[in-house]
Amino acid sequence: MDIKLFLIKYSEIAIKGKNRYMFEDMLVHQIVTRLKSAEGQFSVTKTAGRIYVEALTEYDYDEVIGILTKIFGIVGICPIVQVEDNGIEALAADVVAYMQEKYGDKAFTFKVMSRRARKNYPILSNDVNAKLGEAILMNMPNTKVNVHDPDLYVYVEIREKINIYTETIKGAGGMPLGSNGKSMLLLSGGIDSPVAGWMVSKRGVTIEAVYFHAPPYTSDRAKQKVVDLAKIVSEYSGHIRLHVINFTDIQLAIYDNCPHDELTIIMRRYMMKIAEHLAKENGCLALITGESIGQVASQTIQSLAVTNEVCTLPVLRPLIAFDKQDIVEISEKIGAYETSIQPYEDCCTIFVAKHPVTKPQLKFITHSEEKLVGIIEPMVEEAIRTEEIIEV
Ligand code: ATP
Ligand code: MG
Repeated sequence: MDIKLFLIKYSEIAIKGKNRYMFEDMLVHQIVTRLKSAEGQFSVTKTAGRIYVEALTEYDYDEVIGILTKIFGIVGICPIVQVEDNGIEALAADVVAYMQEKYGDKAFTFKVMSRRARKNYPILSNDVNAKLGEAILMNMPNTKVNVHDPDLYVYVEIREKINIYTETIKGAGGMPLGSNGKSMLLLSGGIDSPVAGWMVSKRGVTIEAVYFHAPPYTSDRAKQKVVDLAKIVSEYSGHIRLHVINFTDIQLAIYDNCPHDELTIIMRRYMMKIAEHLAKENGCLALITGESIGQVASQTIQSLAVTNEVCTLPVLRPLIAFDKQDIVEISEKIGAYETSIQPYEDCCTIFVAKHPVTKPQLKFITHSEEKLVGIIEPMVEEAIRTEEIIEV
């Protein structure tokens, strides 16, 4: 079927009172921006509480659906046929033609759902439903009406023009990007942090990311994996600026000067400090991590408290109460899992102690960190100064 037009449905933004127009404009902006990468020309318009995407040239249907289903704020995408209002007989003929082309002689039950958004339409909705239902039945003998539990609904929206559709493709949900500021994601090569970034981005937050690597202990391949993950997240979150920080000297300094069972926690405190510095420098209002209570030693509540202590910005931990399996499911759904499980070490795995502290106390940790005074500050400065920025 030759579809040229899509009706874009959005919900949460529809109830946002006077912010509604702002949210709609952000959504339109996102759609326009994302479709630039697709083959073909499109026009995106907002009329009377509806957003339409129209293909002005030849285009690739699957590519466009693939893009639209990754745009936050969209709850449904309806491929529609739009016809002029030439009276009810003409409408019946149009609906039958649409149904025949789409479903041929398939057997199914249906219910017509018409809606008069234009109240001056001369026929009441119930009568429109009856008339169109009858026309379908007469022309498609394998169909039946079922008003309680039909196989499909035939939607007919009577506006200036008339929209006909039977299918709503599920959208990504959430809120349009740009509606909730920007945050800095601590992105490792694991399963969790890409999911965490995706989840926060779904609430309309744009993201930057920071990755700490430790060459030569971590390979270029491990770094590439993080870039690949950032790319996957960016299909939803939009463009990501990835800050790559060389963490080797800092890690070695901690290794040389601090008790080994405290390595992970001290290292994580320095990661958070640097991430916060970058966040503030780049206009980010919060940090995001993939932490989840109890998943590993550095993610007990005590560890989280000690790590958190170095930050003044809010630290968003959207996975905090998730089971691993639930995280894996989202990772698979967003297409990150296969990349996340590639076996390239991240910098934490190399310097981990056999028996890391699981209930660190701040006073002991800060005491251990005193050994770093005078050594580590120039390293932190150097790490920030020599950051590599990759635009994803
Ligand atoms: P993930 O699956 O996201 O790697 P994880 O289960 O391996 O998480 P940790 O290694 O304890 O958990 O890391 C906790 C969080 O700290 C990560 O989710 C991520 O946000 C951040 N993080 C860890 N290592 C790095 C790194 N090398 N660069 C940037 N952020 C990191
Ligand atoms: Mg990890």
